[in-house]
Amino acid sequence: MIPPRKTRKIRIRDLELGGDAPIAVQSMAATRTRDVAATIRQVHLIEAAGGDLVRIAVDNDADVAALAEVRKATKARLSVDLQENWRLAEKVAPFVDKLRYNPGHLHHHEKSLPVAEKVAWIVAVAKRHGLALRIGVNAGSIDPALEARFPGDHVAAIVQSAIDHCAIVDDLAFTDYCVSIKDSDPRLVIDANQRFAAVRPDVPIHLGVTEAGMPPDGIIKTRIAFEQLLSRGIGDTLRVSLTLPFDDKGQEITIGRQLLDDVANGRFRSVPPNFFNQLNIVSCPSCSRVENEKFIELAQEVKRMTEWAKEHSITIAVMGCRVNGPGETDDADLGLWCGPTHVNLKRGEETVGAYTYEQILPKVKAEVERLVAAKGGKVPA
Ligand code: SF4
Repeated sequence: MIPPRKTRKIRIRDLELGGDAPIAVQSMAATRTRDVAATIRQVHLIEAAGGDLVRIAVDNDADVAALAEVRKATKARLSVDLQENWRLAEKVAPFVDKLRYNPGHLHHHEKSLPVAEKVAWIVAVAKRHGLALRIGVNAGSIDPALEARFPGDHVAAIVQSAIDHCAIVDDLAFTDYCVSIKDSDPRLVIDANQRFAAVRPDVPIHLGVTEAGMPPDGIIKTRIAFEQLLSRGIGDTLRVSLTLPFDDKGQEITIGRQLLDDVANGRFRSVPPNFFNQLNIVSCPSCSRVENEKFIELAQEVKRMTEWAKEHSITIAVMGCRVNGPGETDDADLGLWCGPTHVNLKRGEETVGAYTYEQILPKVKAEVERLVAAKGGKVPA
């Protein structure tokens, strides 16, 4: 059962979010935005599956031009992910209904400008165009000053980032905003969102477990977080984030709606024994930044190839681009992040090398065997 939520209601064009509005289910285009035909297809797949909102990432002017074309081809509510390039807000505003910025990404461009001024600029754009806003905190990209303020308590740092940004936006007398705090570990997502909701029970919350990976484990991780939070009345919109073939993007919506229905009717799934002590594949859902479409296939191959090592507590991260790839693989035992022609392989923070898409799998196989052997496990002959 999902208890009544205490958040205020905001509007994304004609969609009400928060308070007693139905919990909205959304997804994001996984293809390169400048590939207009592919992006329109992603939007149509998400719409056809019943998605309330479709997010699209933009990085540059070519993406903005593509977004203008996508807008002409659909009436879907569109949200845009500004990534580091927050100045694009003004250019995309005529084509979208909502802007998302990541507080941790506002430090990269125009470093001399205070973050609060950048937020004020984004909010001014949202106000002028009647757009909603999401403050989208990601545990993997946090302002280093906040980490220093909360030594040893990473969750406190990311929650504080969300709280600080709400205060900035509140001071600008802007209320049409929601907040998300995401990580690939569902336990952190539960903890952080509970802490945030305790401080700001009025702010609508977007739920997500980022880089959850592939089904079925990616769905299990998502369910662990969403069941716990929704049943406590936390969550006004959600996105299930899975690494899926591009044509299956609508599944994120179908799975999200099923999950909502299950929680509303008290159908909870038990967590498989030892789930958090076994092989964990963290992989991103792909987005406009994906450097090579072979990324999805690569993630699936890594999963198939390491099935034998399932019982071993090893984390492998597979990421689609150079922007988030290097950082988001640091915590994994084995990290792969994709470039246009090569895949970069890491052991924790140490770089092993860059290999072509044809060469990489034997390298991963050898690394996994080495890790299992180091743990005293049996490696197949
Ligand atoms: S890692 Fe890169 S390609 Fe994957 S979702 Fe994140 S930004 Fe997009």
